[in-house]
Amino acid sequence: MTSINVLNTSAAYAVKYLETLDSRPIGTTATLDELRVRLAKAFPEAGRDPEQVISELISDAEGGILGSTSGRFFGWVIGGTLPVALAADWLTSTWDQNAASNLTAPAEAVVEDVCGEWAKELLGIPRSASFAFVTGSQMGHATALAAARYRLLRDRDWDVEELGLAGAPSIRILTTESRHESILRAVRLLGVGTRAVEYVPSDNGGRMLASELEKALKQTAEMPVVVCLQAGDLNTGVFDPFDKICPIARAANAWVHVDGAFGLWAATSKRYRHLLDGAEQADSWATDGHKWLNLPFDSGLVFVADAAAHRAAFSQDTSYSIPVGGLRNQKDWNPEWSRRGRGFAVYATIRALGRSGIGDLVDRCCAHASRLVKNIGELPGVEIVATPVINQGLVRFLGTDGDHDRHTDDVIARIQRKGVAWFGGATWRGMRVMRVSVCNWLTTEHDIDLTIETVRESASESQCT
Ligand SMILES: *Cc1c(COP(=O)(O)O)cnc(C)c1O
Repeated sequence: MTSINVLNTSAAYAVKYLETLDSRPIGTTATLDELRVRLAKAFPEAGRDPEQVISELISDAEGGILGSTSGRFFGWVIGGTLPVALAADWLTSTWDQNAASNLTAPAEAVVEDVCGEWAKELLGIPRSASFAFVTGSQMGHATALAAARYRLLRDRDWDVEELGLAGAPSIRILTTESRHESILRAVRLLGVGTRAVEYVPSDNGGRMLASELEKALKQTAEMPVVVCLQAGDLNTGVFDPFDKICPIARAANAWVHVDGAFGLWAATSKRYRHLLDGAEQADSWATDGHKWLNLPFDSGLVFVADAAAHRAAFSQDTSYSIPVGGLRNQKDWNPEWSRRGRGFAVYATIRALGRSGIGDLVDRCCAHASRLVKNIGELPGVEIVATPVINQGLVRFLGTDGDHDRHTDDVIARIQRKGVAWFGGATWRGMRVMRVSVCNWLTTEHDIDLTIETVRESASESQCT
């Protein structure tokens, strides 16, 4: 087992990487061409020393690792990695359990059982809901909507698990224009098709209008309907009005699914939990551990109120994997068969932070986002496009030549090149904007000060050219 020393190389590097994170440029410094030249080695006909392979991987990837775990990274909605989560993630790979069943991964099965309950408690989801640990919200949506598809069609005497969708009653998907793309892909994966998706009009902030939903539901009272709502819009962080929508949907026997990829964690904050009022009446919920909970990637959670429908859509019989007495067998609830033990990192992190620690993390990120947007908005030539409701906001930079889109993209590129902080751009309601997302446990007041300064410098340099 001499090759096991390679683990020491890797662990020593990991610790050094994390300790020096703050002083590294956050953006990448190597081009894709440079990385390709370094990494595209001649095809390895013969093997080589693992120690050398890992050392070369580290040096060849240099400059190609985006500093998205940094406290001054505000792109997309990413989140960093808490050391306790990373430690549990290392153990997960070390133990290398096949989390498909409680025979192949008994401790993981118990941990998932425990964590599913903890997550429901944290997120305000009914105790009786079933759950699954999936890759992320994308597969969370696919899992929840598969359960919805089963239940809505079974109620119309159609067993979709046996008969498939050909000839089945058509399903309507009602959502808003601001839904995340992953909702559409779940609909495609399930064979429902995007033509089934209808956009219900929303208010100025992008929240679904209850009166418009009511109208849409009346059009085809007999058809199966899934209403997809958002807890935390990707760009603006807004929440659909669950307390108004859920009773209307329920009265029409529609299934309500909540995309709470990051926003569902607002339930842990005394200050923000009111945004989720009524969300407990939904039929399914999807969220991520790898965003606001700051776990490494591959951590999604999905919950389904109708546990029997969830199980009917996923359960399977195999003679070689019979569930052990009473304990939930994971693969009866998951879209995958073999997979890693996703529960360990969730377990360790919820224990280490507790409800109050997670709530503090949420509050802190929201306060930072609010100050970032406010102070950037006070710089000359900046317009606030969306003031954060929680941790997400939008700004844009007004060019003296009137080309605000070009100017906004130019400022974003300058900020990225300077390497002190990182923001991404997007097109929102026809205009280029800079997105501000704060969901990293590391971010401090000092990071916000440094970031405002680098934005100020970049905006004034851009205006000079
Ligand atoms: C990130 C995100 C998703 C997709 O989640 P994955 O974990 O990337 O699959 C869906 N909806 C929203 C609102 C998101 O922010």
